[in-house]
Amino acid sequence: MAKLSILVPDIGDYADVPVIEVLIKVGDVIAKEQPLLVLESDKATMEIPSDAAGTVTSIAVKAGDKVGKGSIVCEIEAVTSNSSPALALEATPVAKVETPVMSVPTGDQYSGKVDHECEVLVLGAGPGGYSAAFRSADLGMDTIIVERFATLGGVCLNVGCIPSKALLHTTAVMDEVKTMAKHGITFGAPKIELDQLRAYKDSVIGKLTGGLAGMAKARKVKVVRGLGHFLDANHVEVQLTSGDGQELTGQKEIIRFQKSIIAAGSQPVKLPFLPADPRVVDSTGALLLKSIPKRMLVIGGGIIGLEMATVYSTLGSSIDIAEMMDGLMAGADRDLEKVWEKFNSGRFENIMLKTRASKAEVKADGIQVSFEGENAPKEPKIYDLVLVAVGRTPNGKKINASAAGVAVDERGFIHVDNQMRTNAPHIFAIGDIVGQPMLAHKAVHEGHVAAEAAAGQKSYFDAKQIPSVAYTDPEVAWAGLTEEQCKSQGIAYEKGLFPWAASGRAIANGRDEGFTKLIFDATSKRIIGGGIVGTHAGDLIGEVCLAIEMGADTIDMGKTIHPHPTLGESVGLAAEAASGHCTDLPPVKKR
Ligand code: FAD
Repeated sequence: MAKLSILVPDIGDYADVPVIEVLIKVGDVIAKEQPLLVLESDKATMEIPSDAAGTVTSIAVKAGDKVGKGSIVCEIEAVTSNSSPALALEATPVAKVETPVMSVPTGDQYSGKVDHECEVLVLGAGPGGYSAAFRSADLGMDTIIVERFATLGGVCLNVGCIPSKALLHTTAVMDEVKTMAKHGITFGAPKIELDQLRAYKDSVIGKLTGGLAGMAKARKVKVVRGLGHFLDANHVEVQLTSGDGQELTGQKEIIRFQKSIIAAGSQPVKLPFLPADPRVVDSTGALLLKSIPKRMLVIGGGIIGLEMATVYSTLGSSIDIAEMMDGLMAGADRDLEKVWEKFNSGRFENIMLKTRASKAEVKADGIQVSFEGENAPKEPKIYDLVLVAVGRTPNGKKINASAAGVAVDERGFIHVDNQMRTNAPHIFAIGDIVGQPMLAHKAVHEGHVAAEAAAGQKSYFDAKQIPSVAYTDPEVAWAGLTEEQCKSQGIAYEKGLFPWAASGRAIANGRDEGFTKLIFDATSKRIIGGGIVGTHAGDLIGEVCLAIEMGADTIDMGKTIHPHPTLGESVGLAAEAASGHCTDLPPVKKR
């Protein structure tokens, strides 16, 4: 522990700014970036965040005091990386605001006709956008959503999380049925009706997006259909769209707003050397499931690529995966990924690590792709379908944010503080457009924070963990710190591992290849991370997420009675293993 004074940072040309609220008290444990004070000048209100994590030992200011750059706010016992890793967890993955709050020009430049007025305008109706809009309406604010597509739900519901899971469910059943022969039950070879499978997937999407439309209506959230861009700090112009896609009708509507929440999401990264050809697709194209290719290349061994490769391989495609890095599923601990790799050793034709697709040509019989790298095939290979899944890029540069005074970085991300506020104090941003991880559950939580902050509440995005799940077979899920992160950050940790080979339920299911691993702070014994590989790992990781947020320790988790026989039991048993006394495992050898 080190004593630190937290000072008021550079707040522009302001001295003697009155403190209107002190947000901390002695003894509080604060995270880096957590707001400490609220100041109010004659032009704006702003929060002063902490630049370090730790425990508050004294406070130097009170409401009514006047402060300026360099004034002491408080003293803290700072957290060092190996004193309490739970506190050292990234409180928020979003980037810091880089532009001083008070330097943003506000006010109307647009003075023409206005078609709609609202308190909160939400740009984009993905999981972040619709959650923000619904929360805004629930808080009594008059809310409009602008969305270019016909349905609400964004990437996640229409061309992401949901359709991919509908197809993964189908193919998981197909795979499981094959294993039933070992149980004495045999089924015939599957007959694939692609039109019907597509219709099933579309019906799943329809059910969810229809539900959202109903919920918007019930909350009196108006939806304006079209492509929106900012005209100034209080106006958005919407070019109305029609049809399934985003054809412009030529009509425009202007919305005047008091506050805005930008939730315009992201789009797939394109590789410039790939030809424009219907046989070269991104995840949206792959989810259309137009046909089942004989030979398929998946460029990118991340979660999206591997999920789609799982679907297509079960449907009958022979698949090569090319990944530039030296491992698949970046971000997961290698021991988790290795279980997936071993289980899937026969599923794919080639997994080419340290291999870059470098050139592609359209040929009569397919797309001919050349490769470079350590494991690259010497000769080009021909594919019937090439899926590009090399990441997603934010849509920040497409909404004319600068007209509203909102800063967008060179990659298209919008930087926000932990209330999801951009450098323009009345404009918030959430979801994929503010940074990694680009995941729906992060967008939803950020959406709630933005709406609550817009309503004047003291709501902050201060998650201790954001889980990741690969819904492959087996599933791979992790939350909080990984072992690799603990090692690289010098964090002393202990782990408890429960192999599913000792789980009655996993054995009964015929799927005992997995394991559950919990990571605890070596000093406090509180959980700081966890990973699970096995069937339903994505559902099981929820308990680990809650435990991290609640600061549970080995005893809390090990002494919690879990139902038997379940896969969920493995979480409690892994905690027992960490305590060194798990009666479902062989005795620990005495040293
Ligand atoms: P988006 O969902 O991208 O929504 C943004 C919306 O804004 C879109 O509807 C877009 O049309 C609209 N828009 C953009 N610009 C404008 C404009 N100028 N005017 C009007 N409207 C505009 N995440 C998970 O958590 N779990 C998963 O299992 C998962 N699976 C995925 C599978 C695939 C194949 C893909 C591609 C993604 C997956 N994701 C998953 C990621 C998840 O979909 C995104 O993180 C999430 O959708 C981001 O939400 P968002 O609200 O930020 O933006």
